[in-house]
Amino acid sequence: MNGDPGKMSCVDFQAQLPDLIASGEDAAAHPHVQGCARCSALLADLRTIAEAARQLFPSVEPPDEVWEQIESAIKREDEAASNAE
Ligand SMILES: [Zn+2]
Repeated sequence: MNGDPGKMSCVDFQAQLPDLIASGEDAAAHPHVQGCARCSALLADLRTIAEAARQLFPSVEPPDEVWEQIESAIKREDEAASNAE
């Protein structure tokens, strides 16, 4: 492992993404995402997936806090995006 998260590859970042989200880290604030449009778009896709899952299975409780953490991470991403404008 090299110590600089800003220089990690997309593959390395995406491998860590589930752990980041599950641990409550703000994935959108990750140095790699800040410099990588591809992984920024990936987070947007995760939001779409989370919303679609809620619409498809509105009565199903999430298995744990994962969805909630995804949602809060995405909200922070939106706030960061609007603040940047
Ligand atoms: Zn990337």
